[in-house]
Amino acid sequence: MSVTTLTVGRLFIGGEWTDAADGGRMDVIAPSTGEKIADVARAGVADVDAAVAAARRAFDEGPWPRLSSRERARVLQRAYALMRERAEELAQLESLDVGKPITFARVVDVNNAAELYEYYAALGHRLDGEVREITAAAHAYVRPEPLGVVAAITPFNFPLILSSTKIAPALAAGNTVVHKPASDTPLSALLMAEILRDAGVPEGVFNVVTGPGSTLGDHLVAHPDVDKVAFTGSTEIGAHAAGLAGRSLTPFTAELGGNAANILFADADLDRAIHTVISAFVFNAGQFCMAGPRLLVERPLYGVVLGILKDVVPRVPFGDIADPATVIGPLASRTQLDKVSALVERARAAGARVVTGGHAVERDGGFFYAPTVIADVAPDAEVVVDEVFGPVLTVQPFDTEDEAVALANGTPYGLASGIQTADLARAHRVAARLRAGITWINGWAVLDPSVPFGGVKASGWGREGGPEALQSYQKAHSIVFDLGGAA
Ligand code: NAP
Repeated sequence: MSVTTLTVGRLFIGGEWTDAADGGRMDVIAPSTGEKIADVARAGVADVDAAVAAARRAFDEGPWPRLSSRERARVLQRAYALMRERAEELAQLESLDVGKPITFARVVDVNNAAELYEYYAALGHRLDGEVREITAAAHAYVRPEPLGVVAAITPFNFPLILSSTKIAPALAAGNTVVHKPASDTPLSALLMAEILRDAGVPEGVFNVVTGPGSTLGDHLVAHPDVDKVAFTGSTEIGAHAAGLAGRSLTPFTAELGGNAANILFADADLDRAIHTVISAFVFNAGQFCMAGPRLLVERPLYGVVLGILKDVVPRVPFGDIADPATVIGPLASRTQLDKVSALVERARAAGARVVTGGHAVERDGGFFYAPTVIADVAPDAEVVVDEVFGPVLTVQPFDTEDEAVALANGTPYGLASGIQTADLARAHRVAARLRAGITWINGWAVLDPSVPFGGVKASGWGREGGPEALQSYQKAHSIVFDLGGAA
């Protein structure tokens, strides 16, 4: 498989593989072993300029924005087919690069990413304009037009899916793209460059620059030839980048941090709810913006639930990412492991009770952290309020629906949320009061390309997925004929 060709990853600019202008390289580390698995070009601002120029040329002069939406959709459909053909290669690469258990890389990452191309190929098949009836003396119609050059910036945790949520709708709408993946996990972006080229995406329409956001991010976001920035990442960097884009009034989508509450009412089907609670906080080793790291339990069940979690959580299959049975792999980097360890230590020092876990696990030199459950935490404790981004669950009791809602809404974030209850009226009532972009009832992380997701408050603005995302890569151009008035 072409993982070996990617061990010397280069930039993809204007349809060509190229080295960084200054020859810079950076290492890619496997989180499951701590060993180097590849090195890729370390782009600088000159390379960003070259990639943006290629995308600009492709937009201003190339065929892509001028093709019919049907012709573009066929290319995306071919990309979908190629992703299916190369699914195992994509899954192995994503698993190795991010430290994902192989089953999840196959079933979640590759499937969902491919389906995004399939969905936007279907949705983009006919991008019709609309006639607006205004007066007999005029004729008006509205054309949906692409925005131009899109900078697509993604985080380390779901490289393939989160690049696809941007690239597929952006391309379907007729834009050109410069993609900057996270430095820790850049490999699948390079394989996607190959796949999109082979699917028939013309040169310059899709470009990849690998390199540190700290040195090239500002330049890309503020670039005068970039017409839209689609950013997914931390609230801190997202807010900084949004500020920069705001200065030039460049449209900006901000998919930022999350810290979801999962509300467990005493009437819920407990077996099913426990399964949901655990998968919501251990999925992707907790490095999931829409994870459920805050469990709120109706008081009569508090002790019972803690007892079950203490028993079951240590038995969740953990470790070898190549084993199809493994559920929890390592964290994606040493930095992430150190951050999670320090946060749990501070919680312990502040008096929280670690029910299970609470320590790193030495295994093959990888960045493993034991799945952890923490009780007896105050609602304003750091480990409750901040985004931990590791396999860590805090558990708090509540007495009333109002209290549950207040606790759930009590952090700066507002991305996802969940309600486990058998009472449907309550599910609707509580869901409407939660300040979040998505609420799951009696389940977690049920996602589909057609269902929009995104945040409120510090979790950002804009939506990915669904027709909402396609529209965010289009502008309405009104064309009005003055027919000369009545004769
Ligand atoms: P991050 O540190 O904010 O990085 C995200 C991306 O921004 C990376 O590609 C990074 O490049 C780049 N970047 C860094 N500095 C930049 C700058 N000045 N200008 C422009 N781009 C810059 O986030 P992360 O640690 O990779 O990801 C974890 C965060 O993402 C969590 O907070 C998580 O909740 C959030 N997330 C949100 C969603 C959602 O849909 N809302 C989905 C997934 C993750 P380098 O890698 O080179 O630093």
